[in-house]
Amino acid sequence: MQNEIKDVVVIGGGVVGTAILRKLSLYHLSIALVEKQPDVCEGASKANSGIIHTGFDAPPNSLEAECLKRSRDLWPDYTEQLKIPYIPCGAIMVATNEEEKEIIEKKYIPNAEANGAHVEWLDRDEVLEMNPAVTDKVVGALSIPGEAICDPFTATRSYAELAVINGAELFLGSGVIDIKEIENGFSVILEDGREINTKYIVNAAGVYSDHISRMIGDTSFTISPRKGQFILTEEEIDISQIILPVPTAKSKGTLVSPVVFGGFLLGPTAEDQQDKEDKSTSTEGIEQVLTGCEKLIPQVREYDSIRQFAGIRAVCSTGDYVIRPSEKNKQFIHAAGIRSTGLSASPGIAEVVAEQLQSAGLELEKDHDAKIEIPNLFDDSEENVGEIICLCRTITRGEITNAMEGPVPPTTIDGVKRRTGATLGECQGNCCIPKIVDILHEYGLDDHKVPLKGIQHSTIAVKGGQQR
Ligand SMILES: Cc1cc2nc3c(=O)[nH]c(=O)nc-3n(C[C@H](O)[C@H](O)[C@H](O)COP(=O)(O)OP(=O)(O)OC[C@H]3O[C@@H](n4cnc5c(N)ncnc54)[C@H](O)[C@@H]3O)c2cc1C
Repeated sequence: MQNEIKDVVVIGGGVVGTAILRKLSLYHLSIALVEKQPDVCEGASKANSGIIHTGFDAPPNSLEAECLKRSRDLWPDYTEQLKIPYIPCGAIMVATNEEEKEIIEKKYIPNAEANGAHVEWLDRDEVLEMNPAVTDKVVGALSIPGEAICDPFTATRSYAELAVINGAELFLGSGVIDIKEIENGFSVILEDGREINTKYIVNAAGVYSDHISRMIGDTSFTISPRKGQFILTEEEIDISQIILPVPTAKSKGTLVSPVVFGGFLLGPTAEDQQDKEDKSTSTEGIEQVLTGCEKLIPQVREYDSIRQFAGIRAVCSTGDYVIRPSEKNKQFIHAAGIRSTGLSASPGIAEVVAEQLQSAGLELEKDHDAKIEIPNLFDDSEENVGEIICLCRTITRGEITNAMEGPVPPTTIDGVKRRTGATLGECQGNCCIPKIVDILHEYGLDDHKVPLKGIQHSTIAVKGGQQR
């Protein structure tokens, strides 16, 4: 039981929830975030295309378009301050016949103009010069130079780390199971029995944000899951940009994109389903990806895939982002229905949520001592680096202990992998997992088993120290 009353509790540790936490950590506020998984970035934020979209194709006048527009101005500073791997490679929407060219001219160019996103037409030779692997059926392409790729995990982790450095508290590994309304606020009840009292709640629970909403009797929207399957390849593909298809009336189609750490992503599918947890891949889904992508890059079937995975989009019944106070209680702000562009729009969403909280009565007084930049936490001096733990990827003990001592330390092997790259090599962890488990034990994970993923309860409370 927590006695202190928080100003704001954010529910959900995806890219949206953590972006909001970071933003709120710049003010004199007592804030916390609750995430049911043992780490941040375990939902849609973990499995997406990693593209920073400009919003050129977002519905004009939508909240999504507004958040993407605001984010365009914020990303350059964010990538620097938060040390997010980022490549401003640009994207092209490829027309493979005159009909597709006409769709671009009649629909996408005016749409981009309405949203203030810069686009320009490239002729066939310009497209092939920059992207020789593109189909020779190409008649031209819409260039969207502002599109970029980034690492979604670092974005989410860095948002959370900066917030923790500024004093935010994280409750990981125990989901919210109920919310009671109390005088001037709420009591948030976690699976493990803990209760957090707070004046305001932000609902950023992704595909479960409708469940969270119902905890206070708000049934104003529903969220349904839409799966997207991907293929990851490390083959050389002779493209330098994100290659987008012209969407049809039925589907947005599948794209081919460079990945910020190397390799290329093919996908995703768009499959409506009932199950919010089903992230399985299927032969049909992978075939759909290949059929879509070969229209853009004819060689795709020749490439070996190193991994196939799927993510779940949160499709909202309202058709747009839901960022507003609940009809049931104005101190409960939704940041829900963030379907396809939440990584790109996260800086703008955080701004809008802060404004909504302020309109609902929360005082936002700037904390002039708050950090806006992630410090360089790794001391790579020889004595700190130590033995090599992951032989395949040459990851040292120092790199793993550095992750363990960071503001948001891992509690699972997967968490170590995502922060350091250990276990990702050829042996897939066969050699290094036992040593990683030992290091996790050294850092106080006193359970007999350290999970690969799974649930671990932890509280991280920092200004100056951590408790778990
Ligand atoms: C296939 C695919 C491709 C995409 N491509 C892109 C792209 O290229 N660019 C882009 O900008 N966007 C893309 N997106 C969209 C983007 O990934 C999402 O919009 C974004 O990740 C949503 O973030 P979120 O924080 O709202 O949700 P999530 O990341 O799902 O986070 C919600 C969190 O809430 C937690 N939670 C749920 N219930 C509870 C509870 N009861 N208690 C506590 N915590 C709870 C979950 O565990 C989860 O971690 C893509 C999405 C998919 C699926």
